[in-house]
Amino acid sequence: MINPKLLKQFIVEPGTEVDLKRYPTDWMESDEAKELGKGVIKERAAQVLEENRKELDATQELLYASDSYSVLLIFQAMDAAGKDGTIRHVMSGVNPQGCQVFSFKKPSTEELDHNFLWRYMKSLPERGRIGIFNRSYYEDVLVVKVHPEWLGPGQPAKPDKSFWEKRYEDINNFEKHLTRNGTIVLKFFLHLSKDEQKKRFLERLTNPAKHWKFSEADLAEREHWKEYQKAFEDAFTATSTKRAPWHIIPADRKYIARAMVADIIVSAIRDLGLEYPKTSPQKVKALAAARARLEKKPTPAKPDEPHL
Ligand code: ATP
Ligand code: MG
Repeated sequence: MINPKLLKQFIVEPGTEVDLKRYPTDWMESDEAKELGKGVIKERAAQVLEENRKELDATQELLYASDSYSVLLIFQAMDAAGKDGTIRHVMSGVNPQGCQVFSFKKPSTEELDHNFLWRYMKSLPERGRIGIFNRSYYEDVLVVKVHPEWLGPGQPAKPDKSFWEKRYEDINNFEKHLTRNGTIVLKFFLHLSKDEQKKRFLERLTNPAKHWKFSEADLAEREHWKEYQKAFEDAFTATSTKRAPWHIIPADRKYIARAMVADIIVSAIRDLGLEYPKTSPQKVKALAAARARLEKKPTPAKPDEPHL
């Protein structure tokens, strides 16, 4: 387990005016990390991820058996920050029947014909399950804030400040509704530096096995880096709440991001103090009867009646 005190610095305290420059993208360069030593950290990160993967599987079973909560994990980031890889690594030990990943792309015409939260509501996890949103309703205050022309029909061409404030408010109300009805909401921003994004794009261009990951649209969005950072800051400032906090995870090193995310998820579920349902006296009786029935010696077969 990672020291909770260490992780605390990555949670956005409600009411904080977020300045992303104050959050590290490479935690290895922090004084704390230098003190611990890079080699030690790399090894520990692998251990933490492995321990948490196992624990997450057990915890998910308990979540299902106790049938009282669901968990919603939200991932947002700039391109190539490692959302897919983090989701794959962290969830790799979990029973696939207990979790579901939804990736949200550009909305369809049908989706644009509904209110902006509609498509996400339809994909919420059932009680007992973990739901993962790879991009989410936060896109509706991020990408479209940078490109208001993508807002779709019936929306203002030049949305003003109050338009976005209403969306933040809708999101906060939506999350309030979720959390007080048994959904644990954890939000992760994989915080990547512009330099590291460039390295990863170049790797996609150079390595034939990674060519498929490259999209020219990603380069176009990179040009809007500053506007995106500002949109993220505004969104985190407005929507990090006690009940649904934002975590700004340093993502320049994948193994650090994965270990931190896994640890935060496991700790949050563990904090629920879930227990397997108690067996009722009637059930104990029924189980004993079933056992007796199973263990009963079969009655020897009667010799065949002579055929007439
Ligand atoms: P990867 O590139 O790793 O496969 P991705 O999540 O970037 O994963 P893409 O298909 O490349 O997937 O991109 C999805 C695009 O859809 C993103 O550019 C995102 O901003 C956009 N998108 C998602 N939600 C919305 C939305 N509500 N309105 C407009 N665009 C959206
Ligand atoms: Mg993409």
